[in-house]
Amino acid sequence: DPTSAKEYVQSVYETVIHRNPNEKEFHQAIKEILDSLVPIFEKHPKYMEHSVLERIVEPERVIYFRIPWVDDKGKVRVNRGYRAQFNSALGPYKGGLRFHPSVNASIIKFLGFEQIFKNALTGQPIGGGKGGADFDPKGKSDNEIMRFTQSFMTELYRYIGPDTDVPAGDIGVGAREIGYMFGQYKRIRSGNEAGVLTGKGIHYGGSLARTEATGYGCVYFVNEMLASKNLSFEGSTVIVSGSGNVSIYAIEKAQQLGAHVVACSDSAGYVYDPAGINLETVKRIKEVERGRISSYVDEHPEATFTEGCDGIWTIPCDIALPCATQNEIDADMAKTLISNGVKAIGEGANMPSTLEAIHLFIDNDVLFGPAKAANAGGVAVSSLEMSQNSMRLSWTFEEVDAKLHTIMKSIYEQSVAAAAEYGHPGNLLDGANIAGFIRVADAMIDQGVV
Ligand code: GLU
Repeated sequence: DPTSAKEYVQSVYETVIHRNPNEKEFHQAIKEILDSLVPIFEKHPKYMEHSVLERIVEPERVIYFRIPWVDDKGKVRVNRGYRAQFNSALGPYKGGLRFHPSVNASIIKFLGFEQIFKNALTGQPIGGGKGGADFDPKGKSDNEIMRFTQSFMTELYRYIGPDTDVPAGDIGVGAREIGYMFGQYKRIRSGNEAGVLTGKGIHYGGSLARTEATGYGCVYFVNEMLASKNLSFEGSTVIVSGSGNVSIYAIEKAQQLGAHVVACSDSAGYVYDPAGINLETVKRIKEVERGRISSYVDEHPEATFTEGCDGIWTIPCDIALPCATQNEIDADMAKTLISNGVKAIGEGANMPSTLEAIHLFIDNDVLFGPAKAANAGGVAVSSLEMSQNSMRLSWTFEEVDAKLHTIMKSIYEQSVAAAAEYGHPGNLLDGANIAGFIRVADAMIDQGVV
């Protein structure tokens, strides 16, 4: 009976709030999922009978720890590290590490919770987890990054392993940091367990196409949505927020498909280039110089730099790919995008749209690719990296890219099918949440009360 399914979901939500006070991002991620799941409990009471929801919202464990390190001036500094091992029903905990000053228990738990369903959608045998530290890599020397990262791993190593928990990158953690962490882990464990981390360098167990995977995967997903309405990237105007790893490769793939990408950003502001973003410049600034996106305009006088991040959404576009961070699109920005005629949104970042913004997009018939589905390409290829490590072989770029493409297509199809089956046709937010949940819930029921 529908009232009781709604009441059930509401009571689980209240327990989460009670147990995790003041964790607003975590509450937001939980609310988004719970609202989508009501039709499952109406249709299949067995999920209520097994208390799957009560179990899934409670992390299996969350570890937090001290990270002492010495800066270049010789001063001892302290940060806090986290690892949320959220759910292992489908496989080893899997998910990135974020180094950013905003990191706290709420952020890590929201990310870890989302990771469960995202990973389930990939169809790969991986559970959900997330970690990180409230460390600010901005302005730190390479040596400081190395010392911090080694200290982080000196504690984290005891909780991870190729068959238990496999971290990777996220904001502030890229190939450089993964390299330092892998070196430190190997030294402590005195053995080469390649599959303990993903996103590794190509010469020591990394996978080709892992770097590109999140951005490419997001564009593949959006391409499926567009095709369902006889639209495409060809000739369309695209805005991509951010200028990190996800953004750069979303821009690259969108451009390869004939899109006109006119803007990108970093935490200081955004660049608008009516001639089309020159990706070589962005790659050099961000990947080589580790600089600020504002310097883009020094080389491209037709482009403008504007301080602040919100303004990027006022640029008229056909397709918007938020690839920066959580809650970067609120209801007002969504309204602006809609009134400027946006046709599709693909979430490259984790939870970049507020719940109000998501509902505005869906209610106004904007094609909406939710984060758990649209940005799953990164973790999907991480899982392929684990497979290659276990087999001690490496696939070619083309092989990995083809598998990524197949996985993104399958995530799209599963989301469409679940949305239709549970009475919300075309609503990929509900479809992705339902399809991901069912996979995890069935595995949990099979494995008994654990
Ligand atoms: N941080 C990425 C994500 O949000 C990738 C995680 C991984 O590769 O394990 O999905």
